[in-house]
Parts: sequence; C-alpha cells; structure tokens
Amino acid sequence: MADAAEEAVVGAEADGPRFTLELNQDQKDIREWVHGFAEGVMRPAAAEWDEREETPWPVIQEAAKIGLYGFEALGQFWADETGLTLPIANEEIFWGDAGIGMAIMGTSLAVAAIFGQGTPEQMGEWLPQCFGTVEEPEVAAFCASEPDAGSDVSAIRTSAKYDEAKDEWVLNGQKAWATNGGIAKVHVVIASVDRELGSRGHAAFVIPPGTEGCEQGAKVKKHGLRASHTADVHLDDCRIPGSCLLGGKEKLDERLARVREGKRSKSQAAMQTFEASRPTVGAQALGIARAAYEYALGYAKERRQFGKAIVENQSIAFTLADMKLEIDAARLLVWRAAWMGRSGQKFENAEGSMSKLKAGEVAVWATERAIQILGGNGYTREFPVERMHRDAKIYTIFEGTSEIQRLVISRAISGVHVK
Ligand SMILES: Cc1cc2nc3c(=O)[nH]c(=O)nc-3n(C[C@H](O)[C@H](O)[C@H](O)COP(=O)(O)OP(=O)(O)OC[C@H]3O[C@@H](n4cnc5c(N)ncnc54)[C@H](O)[C@@H]3O)c2cc1C
Repeated sequence: MADAAEEAVVGAEADGPRFTLELNQDQKDIREWVHGFAEGVMRPAAAEWDEREETPWPVIQEAAKIGLYGFEALGQFWADETGLTLPIANEEIFWGDAGIGMAIMGTSLAVAAIFGQGTPEQMGEWLPQCFGTVEEPEVAAFCASEPDAGSDVSAIRTSAKYDEAKDEWVLNGQKAWATNGGIAKVHVVIASVDRELGSRGHAAFVIPPGTEGCEQGAKVKKHGLRASHTADVHLDDCRIPGSCLLGGKEKLDERLARVREGKRSKSQAAMQTFEASRPTVGAQALGIARAAYEYALGYAKERRQFGKAIVENQSIAFTLADMKLEIDAARLLVWRAAWMGRSGQKFENAEGSMSKLKAGEVAVWATERAIQILGGNGYTREFPVERMHRDAKIYTIFEGTSEIQRLVISRAISGVHVK
C-alpha cells in the first residue's frame, strides 16, 4: 500500500503537475507579441477608424506584414494543445481596440466554418483566399443571420437548390448583419437545402470571389464596432460550382438521409460553427473589459477631488476591485471552455456558452462602470471608455444573445427543453 502511494507521488512528479494556470514560454511570447501590436499600432488608430466607420485596411495590412493576420497565425494559435493561446491572442487584440479587432478577426468565422466542415481540398483552396496576401490582404464573411432568422437559426429561408445537369448549386435569399458582407473575397453562406428539416436541413457553401448574383446590400450604421464592416448580402440566382458545398455532396446526402429516417444528425452547420467559437468571442469581450478597467484605474489614481485622489474613496476603489474580480472570473470560464474545446471534452453544462455569457455581461458592466469613474470625461469622445462601452454591448447580442446562452445552459443542466 505504502509502496503504491509512493509510486503514485513519484509518478505524478515525473509527469509534471496535473493542473497549472502558469502560462508556458510560447504562450507568454505570443501574448507579448500581440500586445505590442495592439498597443503600438491599433490603439493610436482606434478613435480615427471608429469615427470613419470604415474597414481599416492599412491596419489589417500592418497585421499581415508581421504575420498576425493570416492563416499561419490562426494555425499557430490553434496549435496550442492547451487551447489557451487563441483566447489569449484575442484578449490582447481586443484590448487594443474592438472595432479594428473585429476587422482583423471577423475573417476567422468563415475560416472556422471551412476548417470545421470543409474537405482537405476545400481547405487548401479557400483558406488562403480568405486572407489574401501581405501586399493585398482580403477579408472573409460568414453569413448565417437573416432579417427573420437571428436567434432562431432554424428559420433561415435562403435556399440552395442543386442543378444536377450542370453540377451547380443555385442560392437565393437575403443575409443580414454579415461582418465583412459584400467586401469579402470569400463568403461562407448557410442555406437551407430542405426547409422541412429546419436547421438539420442546412448546409454551408463557399461563394467564390466575383460570383454573379452575390451582392452587398445596405451597410449597417452601428452603435459600436464601427471599424468593422457589417452589411446585408443578397443572393439572387447565385450559381456556384458543386464543389463549393462544404464537406461535399455525398456527405450531405448521407446526413439528410439519416435525418429523414428520424435518426439524430451529428452536425447542424451553423450551430457547429458558433459552438466552436464561443470562448474566443468571450475572450474578445474580456479584452475590452480589461482595457476599460485599466484606464479607469489609472484615471482614479490621477483625478483629484475634495483634496485627494478619487481612488481613495471606497466607492471608487471597491468598484475597481469588483471590476478586476469579475474580469478574472470571466477569464477563468473562458480558459476552461477553450481548454475543454481543444482537448475534446464534452460540454455537458454548456461551458462554452457560460464563458461567452459571463464575459459579454462583464464587458458591458465594466465599461459602464469605467464611464462612471471618469465622470463627465467618461461620457465624451475625448476619452476611450465611451467607445469601449459602445463596443462591448454587441457581446451580449451576437454569437447568441445572453438570453439564448441562458437557454442553452438551462437546457444542458436540467435536461428540460426550457422555452
Ligand atoms: C455588429 C454585428 C455583427 C454581426 N455579425 C454577424 C455575422 O458575421 N454573421 C452572422 O450570421 N450574423 C451576424 N450578426 C447577427 C447576430 O448574430 C444576430 O443579431 C443575433 O444572433 C441576434 O439575432 P437578432 O438580432 O435577430 O435578434 P432576435 O433573435 O430577434 O432577438 C431579439 C431579442 O429577443 C430575445 N429572444 C429571442 N428568442 C428568445 C427566446 N427563445 N427566449 C428568450 N429570449 C429570446 C433575444 O435574446 C433578444 O434579446 C451580427 C450582428 C451584429 C449587430
């Protein structure tokens, strides 16, 4: 017995500690590298691009030049088997600026769909095109939402019909709120191949650059994330080669046959993409929250009223303490979900949704508190926290609203189909 215990201890030591939150050198190096770009290039440009409400192509190109914008960078972040590098990099980018951050990271939604559902040939063909080159960077768009299908993805009306004679798919419909919609080189579109099957009848298609019948609709003017382009996309008899169906026709036919027989389908095209990306989205919200917290802390130490720094008042100091506490708590949820996702753990309690829900709500709350700590200055565009507050708000809305995350979590923990 004693020998076994001793062996267990020695064995554990030889394998290294089973649990650690200490980042390894690679993770620290990447964090420092991304932080440098966020601080040196993104922050100085943030207010200007927010005002212009345009895609900051020169900043995207700078990111491409240093290797931060491109498939290699995403691949490098993804390669970390702990799953932490992707959220760490996202937190730093969005700490720099969320609008520009989304202009840089918006492409990754389309990339995730191609990576998650495409065949190796499709990945080889389309992934490089999503990013373009260093000389001519491009962006990509992922189009699931529609005017009448936001939270309710199953209501998607965009149809994809197969023209067997020509081996082409014909897409018709209207997509709404697509990040990079219309300006993207590559659009990934979720369409219904069989409306009767709801979301189980969806499939993902790549629309190659310059395809006729794929046009940008109205560009949306937004509350925040204004350096990121958001627009409707119209698909009007848009014909694409049969090879543009992600995963291929055979796989789709098999899946649809299983669903029609009443068997469970393993993949629901849009949901799959969202589920994989939730902790990353949470990390973006964290970046905004941390930026606002750090700004408010610095300000509270400098700003004097009634003959002392305002941080000497408990109400201000306690608010800052709570901000730090909530941000760190959210980060732990984000890291846990990222680690679970990367190591193939089952999300039994919807831990991915938990991480996004908490981080999104913390970002909205912390940025609002930051405005309060800055007082009148916080409410002006001379100081960055009002922009951070506007940017943060989207994190309780896109990639599943807070209500939808609560729905997912409550269903997971109760086994009841809560409505
Ligand atoms: C800046 C921006 C960028 C975006 N980028 C993309 C993109 O790149 N690709 C893309 O496909 N989409 C994108 N979207 C769309 C986004 O994902 C949707 O806005 C989001 O899913 C919510 O859908 P909705 O706006 O239709 O709200 P609705 O679904 O109409 O919801 C309205 C309200 O009702 C609540 N609600 C709805 N159903 C329930 C329920 N069952 N129980 C309780 N409450 C409920 C919601 O929580 C919300 O508060 C983007 C949106 C914005 C604003």
